[in-house]
Order: sequence, then structure tokens, then C-alpha cells
Amino acid sequence: MDLERWLGEAARAVRDWEAGFGGYAGHACLQVSDERFAPAFGELASRLTGNYPFFHPAYAGQMLKPPHPAAVVGYLAAMLINPNNHALDGGPATAAMEKEAVSQLAGMFGLREHLGHLTTSGTIANLEALYVARETHPGRGVAYSAEAHYTHSRMCHVLGIEGVSVGTDEAGRIDVGELDALLAGGRIGTVVATAGTTGLGAIDPVHEVLAVARRHGVRVHVDAAYGGFFTLLAGQAGTAGLDPLPWRAIAGCDSVVVDPHKHGLQPYGCGAVLFADPAVGRFYLHDSPYTYFTSADLHLGEISLECSRAGAAAAALWLTFRLLPPSPDGLGQVLAAGRRAALAWAALLTDSASLDLYQPPELDIVCYFPADGNRSVTVIDAASARILQAGMSAADEPVFLSTLRVSTDAFRRRHPDIAADGAAARILRSVLMKPEHEAFVPRLHARVERLAQQARQ
Ligand SMILES: *Cc1c(COP(=O)(O)O)cnc(C)c1O
Repeated sequence: MDLERWLGEAARAVRDWEAGFGGYAGHACLQVSDERFAPAFGELASRLTGNYPFFHPAYAGQMLKPPHPAAVVGYLAAMLINPNNHALDGGPATAAMEKEAVSQLAGMFGLREHLGHLTTSGTIANLEALYVARETHPGRGVAYSAEAHYTHSRMCHVLGIEGVSVGTDEAGRIDVGELDALLAGGRIGTVVATAGTTGLGAIDPVHEVLAVARRHGVRVHVDAAYGGFFTLLAGQAGTAGLDPLPWRAIAGCDSVVVDPHKHGLQPYGCGAVLFADPAVGRFYLHDSPYTYFTSADLHLGEISLECSRAGAAAAALWLTFRLLPPSPDGLGQVLAAGRRAALAWAALLTDSASLDLYQPPELDIVCYFPADGNRSVTVIDAASARILQAGMSAADEPVFLSTLRVSTDAFRRRHPDIAADGAAARILRSVLMKPEHEAFVPRLHARVERLAQQARQ
């Protein structure tokens, strides 16, 4: 699709709709001439060039990429109207789109019933899940793995509940034996299983966590903010090594969070939380003297902690799902390409003389380190930092990676030969979340190998 054409169409469609309400005089105080706008916009365009090229496959760093053009056009069209999905009074059309898109997400996870909504972010979505967990299991804490997103301990603090970190195995997955022992103590009311950790892309065995938790009468929340859409690959042809069991178990858990602004091709401002039991809506009971007056139907603000939310985010997701639905043949193809890229790069890294694979990737995140010569934690840490810097600042063929700090213990569990001359090391981390990475991996590998050779001193 031609983005410029459809951005124009979006503006025209909204203007045509507006024209149906009759003409009126615009106010002089808001008027900006093209002559005044041009230099200001020029300044913005120039400042935006200070970004890293998230769109390019040579950007293989953090979880970042531009939204799909369909999402951009959907967002822009709705943003020109600027509906607020807090209430049907503020966004009747986009609230309906939100309910439809959220139902598609629930279907993707196999939830038979659900109560859910979009949020501004994965952090807020997880906060809501933990808030409901606190209400259903008052006085008891929340357990999550040491590799869980850092916001879980922060949100436990916000909610005034105890957060307990559980150790992980040599693949970065929650230690189910340790969890079992912790739950036997009775302090914990809820376990957070992470389906795709942010650092390594490791998948907690949700099915095993669920079995253990149910034995102890404990609630299970799945944080699939990053990994959730990979459920589309579970059990599909060509996904050897991806165990479908954790993904299938999500349907039996109490809540799940997924971030369409990560793997759902959306711009920022789009997380989602889904609850398996619609009755948890009672924990959101509140009265708003300003809203909820046009309809007795459910207003999304009645089941969310946030008040104002962009209706445009729902429009963008709804439109994207019309074209690339959350199905194996739709969005699943995008995720499959990124995962194939990660597996292909892992194979090259395993055979490399100058780089080594930290651990086999499960999803689309690859972690690796410079590995020739002196294999000690401090040497690897310094070389990783040099490679990161040299890659970003290269005039010719720049490459953009990220680093991950790992403890020496964790490092030596995977690579016992690494000398422990420090407490932790930065290693290199690449999220291969663009399908274009698949064709680009040989170039990426050759480029990073060259940087690793130059970083050796
Ligand atoms: C990104 C992420 C979060 C936080 O989500 P935001 O949208 O960045 O607020 C939480 N959990 C996991 C596993 C994540 O990857």
C-alpha cells in the first residue's frame, strides 16, 4: 500500500464526514499559515533524524520497529476525530472496534470467555492483572521469575503486596521445583509466568506452573507482553523446538497480557489485558459523574483502571487485524520469519570463530558474545561494549545492537569455561522482530563478526 496516498485518503475521509455537520467559521487563534508551519516542521523533521533506523534490518537491537502502514493510516484517521475509549460517550465507534479486536486476541489465546480491554502499555496491563490478583487473593504475595520484567516488582510495590523472585534454570525459565516449594509455604496468592522473557525470549513452562499453582490454590497470570503473538506458531509446521504446551496452557490461566505495540505491528500506546473470568469486572466498580450517560452498555472505562485512552489505538489495531489477523496465516507469518531469522543466526554464531551463542533462542531474540581468545567475564563485557559502540558509530554499514547484563553465575551455567573475574557481564542481544531480518541475517552476522575481530586487542 502507498502510505502517502492513504494518509491523504484518511484526512479526506474525515473531512468529508465533518462536512456533513454544516459549515462554521474557524477561530483565528488556531490558524497557522503554511509559511509559518514550513520552518517549524523542517526543524522537527531534522530533529527526528536523530533516531536510530528502527525500520532497517541493520537495526537489530531492542524491541523496536515502526508500525505497519495500515496501523498508521488507521491511527491517523481516528486521531483526526480523537475519540476517547474510556466511555461510549467519548468513542462509540472505536469502543466497538476495541471490543472486536480484544475478542480476536482472546480467540488467539483460546479463551472461551473473557473480559478485557486495551491499555496504554504492557506495564499498565500487568498492573491491572496484579491489582485483580490482589483483590481475589488478599494478603498474599506474587511470585515471578528472576527473568520476569522488572515492572512486576515495581507494581507489587505500588500495590503494597509482597513480590517474590524465583530462580531460573539454565535456559532462563522459572524453576518449577523452587516455585512449588515457595507456594507450599502459603504466602503467595498469584504466580506470574512469563511467555517470552524480555531479555532472552525464554518461555516459562506455563503448563507446569499452572499445574503446580492449582495444586496450591494459587492464581496464574501470564505476562506475554512480548511473546504473546508467538502462540500463533504453536503446533504449526516448521516450528520445531517450539513446545506448544506452554501456549495451550494460557487458556487455562486466570489472566494474560499481550502488547500489540511490540509484535502486533502497532504504534506505542497499545497493550492489552484479558481475564478468563468476566466476573472480575466487579473489582473495577466505580462511579464517574462525568461519563457513562449515553448508554447502559458496557463502557470500557468501567473495566479499566485508566480513564482516557486513545480510541485511535483501537482503530489502528482493528484495521491491522482486518489485513493481518492474529491467525497462523496472517500475523503468524510475520513472527515465523523473525523466529527463523533467530534460529539461522544462532547456527552461524555456533560455528563462528569470533562470536559465540549465549543460549539457543526460543523465539526471535538472539544473545551472543565475542568469544575468541581470553574467555573471561570482564574481557567479554568490555568487548561487547566496544562492538555495540563501534557498530552504531560506523560511517560505513552501521549496525545497531543492544546489550544484556547477565550475572557471572548465569553465564557459567551455560558456558562453564568462562573465567569468573567479575560479578556480571554485558553480552550482545538482538531482537529480530522484522521479517526482513530473515534475508539479512548473513550480512548481519558477517558485519558483527568483523566488529568482533576489530574489538579484539
Ligand atoms: C515489554 C514488556 C513489559 C512492559 O510492557 P510496556 O509496554 O513496555 O510497558 C512487561 N513484560 C514483558 C515480558 C515485556 O516484554
